[in-house]
Order: sequence, then structure tokens, then C-alpha cells
Amino acid sequence: MELILEPLILPSDNKRPFVIAGPCSAESEKQVMETARQLAQKGCHIFRAGVWKPRTKPGGFEGNGETALPWMKKVKEETGMLISTEVATPEHVELAMKYGMDILWVGARTTANPFAMQALADAMKGIDIPVLVKNPVNPDLELWIGAMERINQAGVKKLGAIHRGFSSYDKKIYRNLPMWQIPIELHRRIPDLPIICDPSHIGGRRELIAPLCQQAMDLGFDGLIVESHNDPDKAWSDAKQQVTPDVLDYILSLIVVRSETH
Ligand code: PEP
Ligand code: MN
Repeated sequence: MELILEPLILPSDNKRPFVIAGPCSAESEKQVMETARQLAQKGCHIFRAGVWKPRTKPGGFEGNGETALPWMKKVKEETGMLISTEVATPEHVELAMKYGMDILWVGARTTANPFAMQALADAMKGIDIPVLVKNPVNPDLELWIGAMERINQAGVKKLGAIHRGFSSYDKKIYRNLPMWQIPIELHRRIPDLPIICDPSHIGGRRELIAPLCQQAMDLGFDGLIVESHNDPDKAWSDAKQQVTPDVLDYILSLIVVRSETH
């Protein structure tokens, strides 16, 4: 099936790739606002924060849910940044839209589940905001494309893909193996589909963010989504891979973009 796409136009500076930044999780109003203010001050245009968090094991922080949505709205009102969050159920979609979310993304665990994806796609009928679909946790390109086809069939045309790496038992270097050949093949199959790199979940640790961002640019990715927290060591989820807005700004200043995106 062919995807029927409309251009995904997201704000960025000087023809640089767009960057979505913000904490893994929206932990408190203070943490969300402080991180957002610092990011906005560094020129970031799109904020991310997880409101509903899929956790591997029970008992961890599973997100503040609806309580966090007014904080996100405040980010938009105060800083002018666009706001984005992960949705995994029809109820999440409804609530995210109610609070004025500008961009939705689908997490890797949801993309891997066709029933969940279909329910999500049905709930997206009639929405006109961009939806970004992360690759499934397993290296299955067809499952990734299938998830996007479901959403596209529901009428969502502003689509993008997020490459966040693939789960593996061997975690020597990466938290999730990049297997770059898979997003490259996705680009070959669907040239008009923007592809965004998530170095945070690929790398799993701070030191890998800069080289992964550069690698993504060298490979012609259209944008980046990077986890950034005002106090990364104290983050309630994914602490090791988050960087301060200051460090993120420094990393981005070092990135060389050789050509305009593909
Ligand atoms: C996230 O972006 O914080 C997240 C949970 O990502 P993924 O679905 O890629 O694991
Ligand atoms: Mn995370």
C-alpha cells in the first residue's frame, strides 16, 4: 500500500534539521517548566515529554497521566514551543488533543502490536496534526511500515518515522542497536517520508548522543529527537541518557550538516 503523505513542516533554524527536545518524562510542573524555559532560551522550537510511560517492569514511574497535560499546555503558552507526547491508547489520543498537543508520537512497544496500533489509528480519525511513529522494538521493517499504513489509512497524512534503535540481548555499546540499514531501507521504500533519529534511546548514555547525532546527519536524517532534562542525574526515567539543555545546545553547535536533507 502506498502512503498518502503531506509534507511534515516543523520549525527549525537556518535550514538545520529540526530538533525535538525535552525530558523522557513529565515529572512535575517545576521540572517541566524549568527544562522548557531553558530549552526555549537555547532556541529549541519543539518540546517533548512523556506523560504516559510504558515501563518494562511494574512498580516504576508510569507517568503523571492527565495531571501533566496542563503543564505541557503551559509550556506552549509561556514559551511558544510546540508540544509533543507519546500516545498508546485511544484515551491518550483524546486527552492529548483536548489539551492542545501539537504533535503525537507512537512508542516502540506500541508499534510492535498490530491490535494496539489499529485501535490507536481508529482514534486518530479526523486529527490533523503530525504523528511520528517509532520503529518497533524488534528489527521488523514491515511491522514499522504497517503501523504507519494503519495511521495513514485513518486519514493522518502528516507522518514521520522515528528511528530509536532495536532491542537486543547484547547491550555492550548501545542500549538499542542502530542497525542503520533498516531506516535507510525505509527511506528507499518511502522516499517522501521524513525520518527522525532518536540518539537517546539508541545510545542509552550521554556520551553517545553527540556521535549519534552526527551519524544521523551524515546519513541524511531529517531531524532529531533528544531527551533533555534540567537535572538529568535526578531523572525519574532514562537518567543516564539525558543531557541538560546547555549540553544539548553545545552538542548541536558541533554537528556538521554537510548537505541539505535528502
Ligand atoms: C520515550 O521516548 O521516552 C520512549 C519511551 O521511547 P521508546 O518508545 O523509543 O522506548
Ligand atoms: Mn525515554
